[in-house]
Amino acid sequence: MGLSRLLPRPNTRSTSTEKGTSLARVIAFANQKGGVAKTTTTLNLGVALKEAGHSVLLVDLDPQGNLTMSQGWNPDEIERSMFDVLVHKLPVEEIIRENEVDVAVSSIDLAGAELALSSMIGRERALEKALVSVKSKYDYILIDTPPSLGLLTINALVASNGVIVPVQCEYLSLRGLVQLENTLSMIRENLNPDVEIQGILPTMYDKRLLHSREAIDILRENFGELVFNTKIRKTVRYAEAPVKGQSVLGYEPGGDAAALYRDLAREVLNGAQAREHA
Ligand code: ADP
Ligand code: MG
Repeated sequence: MGLSRLLPRPNTRSTSTEKGTSLARVIAFANQKGGVAKTTTTLNLGVALKEAGHSVLLVDLDPQGNLTMSQGWNPDEIERSMFDVLVHKLPVEEIIRENEVDVAVSSIDLAGAELALSSMIGRERALEKALVSVKSKYDYILIDTPPSLGLLTINALVASNGVIVPVQCEYLSLRGLVQLENTLSMIRENLNPDVEIQGILPTMYDKRLLHSREAIDILRENFGELVFNTKIRKTVRYAEAPVKGQSVLGYEPGGDAAALYRDLAREVLNGAQAREHA
């Protein structure tokens, strides 16, 4: 047994070659606007990262349970969920289900979590604590959040290293993004100094529409390099796949819709490398 075992290990993650000692990179998908493809992106990027050889856990932190549903489970029939993990300190391992990727599932109970947490000490850190026990088991933990900046989303931002913000090209709301940035600065000041916007993802892009192209220009003008090069195009495939309980990568592996999320996975992985070598 060498001395090195006693030395603190660097907090590296997934791309580290030393499997088993690295900790997951935790990414939240947030935008307080609904219908911008948070859930679609959490699932499909998760499956694309897994295809690329990484171990992935998805956390469904939305009481509507769309992510849970999109892997084929009915949130109304789920007895133990992220609610029990956050409020009753149930180990997260006990509610993880396996399908295309591992999912820590949601149930309708989760709607009561904000109220139940609100009177607890450390209410903003419940998720961060719950994930400690699984961080060494996964390369990536991706958290889907509800369409609000309430306590569940705050828990996600506190637990995360990075935030990916999906933005619908059709109804671009820069005011909404400013609000999200304000929440993030508050979290950096008080709870998690390291959390950063990892990228802004244009979704439901229709290249035939001037409006869509203008939306991209406006995003680039305001956020520059933070905007991913990958633009997720508008196609009904993304709505069809979850009905079958599948990602688009499972539903139509050779299709364009799947390829776009593989492109995004490559950008996320390259970004991780760039950061490590910085
Ligand atoms: P959010 O989680 O932000 O509320 P969802 O991921 O649930 O958004 O997406 C909202 C709806 O739009 C869903 O019906 C989804 O299937 C559909 N959708 C998502 N991405 C796209 C896309 N690129 N093109 C067309 N429809 C999409
Ligand atoms: Mg959603």
